[in-house]
Amino acid sequence: MQPFIVKLNGLASRRTEFKWKAGGEFFEQFGNPDILAADIMVTASVVGHGATVDVECSISGVVTVPCDRCLDELELQVETGFSEVYTPDTAELDLSQDVYDYVCTALPLQRVHPEGECNPETIKFLCK
Ligand SMILES: [Zn+2]
Repeated sequence: MQPFIVKLNGLASRRTEFKWKAGGEFFEQFGNPDILAADIMVTASVVGHGATVDVECSISGVVTVPCDRCLDELELQVETGFSEVYTPDTAELDLSQDVYDYVCTALPLQRVHPEGECNPETIKFLCK
């Protein structure tokens, strides 16, 4: 089964749960150079109503980005989610773009280590 794809043919009108993992390669396919690695669990709860599909999605895990100050790896906790009503016109619903967008939106604009935890070598260099 392809991750992030919900097949709509025969989708039950009761709740169906999907669990997917999004790793670094998931973000690579979107060409995002800011995300060095990721370990994210995505749980989608899907209910089909004929023409529309209700999706409740929760996203949690860790992404690794370069620190804005020292460029060392910085791990960020991500806790987010969304609920959407889709009106798909194909036999499959692809949630990968939405999952990607919500993870990116959940990341803080300022990505720096807590005070004192930056790589001292790099900081020394930057301050000269
Ligand atoms: Zn840093």
